[in-house]
Amino acid sequence: MSKWYFIIDVSKCWDCNNCLISCKDEHVDNEWPGYTLAQPLHGHRWMDVLRTERGQYPLIDVAYRPTPCMQCQDAPCVKASGGAITRRPDGIVLIDQEKAKGRQELAKSCPYGAIYWNEEKRVPQKCTMCAHLLDDGWKQTRCSQACFAGALKVVKLEDGELARMIQEEGLEQLHPELGTKPNVYYKNLYRFNKVFIAGSAAVKNGEIFDCAKGAKASLYRGKDKIAEAVADAFGDFRFDRLPEGSGVYAVDLELDGRRSQRVEVELGQSRNLGTLLV
Ligand code: SF4
Ligand code: SF4
Ligand code: SF4
Repeated sequence: MSKWYFIIDVSKCWDCNNCLISCKDEHVDNEWPGYTLAQPLHGHRWMDVLRTERGQYPLIDVAYRPTPCMQCQDAPCVKASGGAITRRPDGIVLIDQEKAKGRQELAKSCPYGAIYWNEEKRVPQKCTMCAHLLDDGWKQTRCSQACFAGALKVVKLEDGELARMIQEEGLEQLHPELGTKPNVYYKNLYRFNKVFIAGSAAVKNGEIFDCAKGAKASLYRGKDKIAEAVADAFGDFRFDRLPEGSGVYAVDLELDGRRSQRVEVELGQSRNLGTLLV
């Protein structure tokens, strides 16, 4: 049977929070019998847009990651619930609001922090993937419909179609090491979970420093060159998608036969090497 998936492109999200607001519009003060009780106005972020900042001024990169319930295939919340939380054949995980009444501990069973406690109604709640709308023939959820930037969409796919999409679009799951097998897939997740080495190439013309547009930057691990990048019109270059805390790298520049000094960097977080003369 085909299943529902969220496909989220981190590089397209602008943190407008239309998704969060449309979720509130759909669920606050609205009960959807068989799916969920109403969401409280405050405190719940069923679509939580998280933010990260990489690098140092002026070479900074800010990214936003919309984060709903991951609709896990192997969900810790389902295992902990004794039947109060179930996964439907189409992949949507729902909390039975009657069976889960008073079960505050279930909010702690989700490793992604996607379950919220409704103090007034004494029930755990989370994103339902707008199952009440999808079951009614909608092709998108309220939040994905409201995302003008195209960062958020839902799709219903057979296994083979999903495998092809993962391959073609380079999709990743959030924290696959948890073994929960999320049905939420991210594109450009490196903006959140990888780091970069960047810098600015400059040339000295008399007393003036100019941007060294076109300078070739090389990245080394030990003696091996592992990547090249070309400086843009501002002289800026960047090596991205490097694993955090992955050890010592070196960078040098070459332009018109001249070569800069080689700079070594121990990579923890993203690094701006500053201005390098070539
Ligand atoms: S509506 Fe789209 S662009 Fe706006 S915060 Fe949500 S996912 Fe990001
Ligand atoms: S993200 Fe959390 S709440 Fe959602 S299915 Fe997975 S374990 Fe359950
Ligand atoms: S899918 Fe529906 S319930 Fe889930 S975050 Fe989006 S609007 Fe809210």
